[in-house]
Amino acid sequence: MTTFKDLGLAEPILKTLSAEGYEKPTPIQADAIPLTIQNRDILGIAQTGTGKTAAFVLPQLHKMAIQRGKPAAKSAQVLIMTPTRELAAQIADSIKTYGRALKPSVAVVVGGVKPGPQIKTMARGVDFLVATPGRLLDHMQSGAINLSDVKTVVLDEADQMLDLGFLPPIRRIMRNVPDQRQVLLFSATMPKLIRGLADDFLDNPAEISVAPQSKPIERITQSVIFVEKPRKAQLLARLLKDPAVERAIVFTRTKHGANRLCQQLERAGINAQAIHGNKSQSQRQKTLDAFRKGSLNILIATDIAARGIDIDNVSHVFNYELPEVAEVYVHRIGRTARAGKNGTAVAFCDNNERSLLRDIEKLTRMKMPVAEIEGFLDLAPPAEAPTEPRKNNGHKRATGSEETRKLRRNRRRRRNKPVAAAAENGKPIAPNEGPARRRWKARGKTAAKGSADGAGLQRMLGNIGAGV
Ligand code: AMP
Repeated sequence: MTTFKDLGLAEPILKTLSAEGYEKPTPIQADAIPLTIQNRDILGIAQTGTGKTAAFVLPQLHKMAIQRGKPAAKSAQVLIMTPTRELAAQIADSIKTYGRALKPSVAVVVGGVKPGPQIKTMARGVDFLVATPGRLLDHMQSGAINLSDVKTVVLDEADQMLDLGFLPPIRRIMRNVPDQRQVLLFSATMPKLIRGLADDFLDNPAEISVAPQSKPIERITQSVIFVEKPRKAQLLARLLKDPAVERAIVFTRTKHGANRLCQQLERAGINAQAIHGNKSQSQRQKTLDAFRKGSLNILIATDIAARGIDIDNVSHVFNYELPEVAEVYVHRIGRTARAGKNGTAVAFCDNNERSLLRDIEKLTRMKMPVAEIEGFLDLAPPAEAPTEPRKNNGHKRATGSEETRKLRRNRRRRRNKPVAAAAENGKPIAPNEGPARRRWKARGKTAAKGSADGAGLQRMLGNIGAGV
């Protein structure tokens, strides 16, 4: 078994890690730390939750421990670029934690807050500068920050930075970093653009990849509830009132959706706060702090704002809307069951999201257990997969002329129309025929027997807890 000592880290850092309860390096740490100490460039494919922050912070602290240089005014020795303000704050906290024996100076330079204090912190130069690209570039243009003393650049969550349109600022920033530098690039995925970025800025990098998180940890009990979109808020309000939900993160797809949901919950007497990119930095930080301390129990978040957020004791994650990319689901539910605890993840799936659910099930290689809530049996779960593999990948072969196919298509549409209309009227949608319809009918009867006073909910949460 590899230990932190085997990786060659300096004694004061080893002591801190031991005090933090870190027993052994994670795979990305075991691979990246020795190479980084040798000053190699690194191209790392890893997601948050893999111990990536320590993988790039520890070797820099090690270099400081063996030879501490004095940073030049307005500059930094290590520059870490990250997509979001929260992630920047979190990385700065990690640097302070891991480096407490060395007391490194750390500056956080992000948008959404006043630039004055950032200029002041940077005036004397710092060991670590953690920044989002846009605000960093502003300071470079005004002359408050220069990168002449930078020895190492870390590009963290590079794919997310590109998604947010940070490619041009990153290129401009990198032009101002001295040629003799080490570059560490970490990304959860490796699209062509990231390859291009690596080709442009990395010199003969060591490529490290930890297996993508396709498998959620086993301590998370997962389930899915099939529910019509307009009824999701009502269902969520009902579930959140259960005392089993101690601290929950609810994921929505859009900022607007997060705000609307907050208001809907408020009307149902539930205090929830949203964090997303349209909130000011101080609002976002205040909300996160309240959630971390426990004075706020329900956090509504979009993926970008929640990326990398590491908060203990989150008992439940609700996927109010399923993500477009299946890996994001694994990421989201990984916000619970941290630090050895158990967690519960509940996904809401409306009719338009069934293919997203299938993608998730394909990735995680597990069929999501279906939870049923009385009063919310609107949608039938999907029919069981056929036992025999079907020919032609499960699709019927298209036969007949284009004209005949069009006629058939229209016929199918007409047949489905009344169902869609019923859904709009708030009436349950029933599968038209076959075993799915029989199951749906049977469930309707059982539900009618139960009470609607919340006892069903208790039972359901009990079911979820037991793995359904
Ligand atoms: P990260 O991927 O950097 O967001 O780290 C995820 C979580 O793992 C954080 O809570 C870290 O404190 C924790 N962590 C990182 N490295 C280790 C380790 N070697 N042993 C135990 N926990 C760790």
